[in-house]
Amino acid sequence: MMKIFDAHCDVLYKMWLNNKISFKDSDILHVNYENLVFAGSKVQCFAIYIPESVRFEDRFNVALEMVDIFYERVLNDICPKMKLVLEKKDILQLHKDEIGAILTLEGCDAIGHDLVRLKTLYRLGVRSVGLTWNFANAVADGCREQRNGGLTNFGIEVVQLNNDLKMWTDVSHLSERSFWDTIELAQFPIASHSNVYSLFQHPRNLKDDQIKAIIEKKGIIGISFVPYFLSENYQNTHIKDILNHIDYICSLGGEKNIGFGSDFDGIDDTINGLEDYRGYKVLVEELQKQYSNEQISKFCYQNFVDTFPN
Ligand SMILES: [Zn+2]
Repeated sequence: MMKIFDAHCDVLYKMWLNNKISFKDSDILHVNYENLVFAGSKVQCFAIYIPESVRFEDRFNVALEMVDIFYERVLNDICPKMKLVLEKKDILQLHKDEIGAILTLEGCDAIGHDLVRLKTLYRLGVRSVGLTWNFANAVADGCREQRNGGLTNFGIEVVQLNNDLKMWTDVSHLSERSFWDTIELAQFPIASHSNVYSLFQHPRNLKDDQIKAIIEKKGIIGISFVPYFLSENYQNTHIKDILNHIDYICSLGGEKNIGFGSDFDGIDDTINGLEDYRGYKVLVEELQKQYSNEQISKFCYQNFVDTFPN
């Protein structure tokens, strides 16, 4: 079975909203333990995402609540084969039936203006830091801010801390200007869940020069399964649409820079055939019609593992 590394899901957010959900087999979740096993997951990233509705002063605490859910309800006795990943060697040492779990931050809203909070999240296991969600925070502007501002002085400190601690800096959701400021500074850039702007002009997608810059910096683009990033016909999307985005990045020379960041559990609408994590099996079968197993293994797993910074 093809090993899968998925760089983004919002399981923790869903489990935070509903404390009755079991990670093991809840059918409310796109990503649950049984689905991961079924489709060949090897590493899953779990995002800490703080909704806009949470008051500023409560955001760090909500982040800690999601960290708690990660340790108590994902890495627990019911799913003993889920293993915490802090370093690349933790991935390489996973046994055949074990699945690695990486804690990631989606947007720095939770840290406010305080690097100690970011260091604390690192010490709790966070290994990838998305600078913004769609809007502005103390670090940078997101892609839905009209003014298109870039990194703030504090944002520069955040990216430098990511570099020092060997964390990924995640450019998904950034405004264009923030993207360019960040890509210049970040030693370990990824776009955990973003697609190709040339194929569908959505502010969350990456323009050609951005994709080329990520390739240049040896970063990875996690193709997402968000229907409304894929094509004009977003009410009726198919796995073929995802293949178009992969083909396009390959055509820019990015074969070593493609991964997947599904955004499962962060989306209500799904692509036909990819209704939940089990759909990765179908995606792999579709890829096999067009790509060699060696290429597919890069897209599905190896590219992200190769760039894991520490
Ligand atoms: Zn997102």
